[in-house]
Amino acid sequence: MTVQPDDTIAAIASAPGAAGVGVLRVSGPRVPAIAQALLGRAPQPRHAHFASFRHAQGETIDHGLLLHFPAPASYTGEHVLELQGHGSQVLLDALLRRVCELGARLARPGEFTERAFLNGKLDLAQAEAVADLIAARSQAGARAALRSMEGVFSRKVEALLQALIALRVHVEAAIDFPEEEIDFLADPAIAQQLDALRTQLDELLREAQRGLRLNDGLRVAIVGRPNAGKSSLLNALAGGERAIVTAIAGTTRDVLRESVALDGVALELADTAGLRDTDDEVEREGVRRAHGELTRADAALLVTDAEHAEADLALFAHLPAGAERVVLVNKIDLAHAAPHAETRDGIRWLWASAKTGEGLAALREHLKQLAGSGSGEGAFSARRRHVLALEAVREHLAHTTHALATTRAGELAAEELRQAQHALGEITGDYTSDDLLGAIFGSFCIGK
Ligand code: GDP
Repeated sequence: MTVQPDDTIAAIASAPGAAGVGVLRVSGPRVPAIAQALLGRAPQPRHAHFASFRHAQGETIDHGLLLHFPAPASYTGEHVLELQGHGSQVLLDALLRRVCELGARLARPGEFTERAFLNGKLDLAQAEAVADLIAARSQAGARAALRSMEGVFSRKVEALLQALIALRVHVEAAIDFPEEEIDFLADPAIAQQLDALRTQLDELLREAQRGLRLNDGLRVAIVGRPNAGKSSLLNALAGGERAIVTAIAGTTRDVLRESVALDGVALELADTAGLRDTDDEVEREGVRRAHGELTRADAALLVTDAEHAEADLALFAHLPAGAERVVLVNKIDLAHAAPHAETRDGIRWLWASAKTGEGLAALREHLKQLAGSGSGEGAFSARRRHVLALEAVREHLAHTTHALATTRAGELAAEELRQAQHALGEITGDYTSDDLLGAIFGSFCIGK
């Protein structure tokens, strides 16, 4: 995908109305000519010119500011023009039509950022972070997206890439001298280099997983038998009466979702149907969906009571490896127990009451921790495709270790390392397909 030499794009870049100011952005080679036509003379670079924007016949469309950012020192790396007018949809539409008369065309969603990517202003992970920043639903998510946009994540990927390339050079060199290959590959330095690389990767993968949670919100599936208090808990956490709470077992038949921001940390809560065997057709469907919800969750919150807790632990069986497990022993008000918490076999247990609210502060705190709050100043945002790419790199590195340790198969190790490099390069966009770029930039809003 390349930018056409004479292709200039334009779009309204701010929601008109709210702030009283509307912004129109134009990017491409025709910008200097368009700017000259609108201003009546050549604009000074990066200066705010007060101007009357006029129709071709001379009639005024709007008064406002005109700013010209000459290539390559602009967001897209091309000539960029920004027109600030009054925040009226009618005026902005008229101005957009005028700019199009002067040689621009309407931009597609994300096309400004796509051009920034194609012109090397941003790599792909940074470009994605622009969209994530705009869509952020929590303070922590926005801060993390900003860091990724600034390149914090990309630099770590780049460091890993350099280490990987250094190792590849070693292994490839060994293959080029077959008579010495065996000795060369048995060199402990290679094994050490590979070990260091795997440690570095595991660290980055953990950070990226945290970044994904900050971006998407921690996906928490609330599970438990009917009447355990799942809907009551969802209501208590979400702070409203959204789920229907009744004393009839099996009321929550479908999956109810709620986005909750706990002190600036996003949670996606899903209240699932009670997981029990049932003859009821509708409820059975709900139970099936609850199982599906569990397989996609980052964390499962089991709502139970003192009597059923041990037996209900079996519900964690459907969780993916690596997902967090939390047990909430509910209804302590009925048992006249005090709220408390402990960790058993790596599972956090909390005693609380969804009805009285006792013990829920500790639960909120724990969920916040799981969602990445307090993950430090350096936390960056990531997307699922980045995590998947890093997981693929991990697989290839494991295969490399295996190839070198067991068979000294240089060719095999070299191929695995090549694939690892490819997977890593997909994150920053060194290797991408047009389909992937289309999917990524197509999900942006227009004007960005
Ligand atoms: P679900 O089927 O798991 O979603 O359970 P619900 O949230 O619908 O709750 C079932 C019943 O238990 C309702 O009558 C709730 O008011 C009650 N309940 C839920 N949590 C508590 C609690 O902590 N204490 C007491 N006493 N009752 C609760």
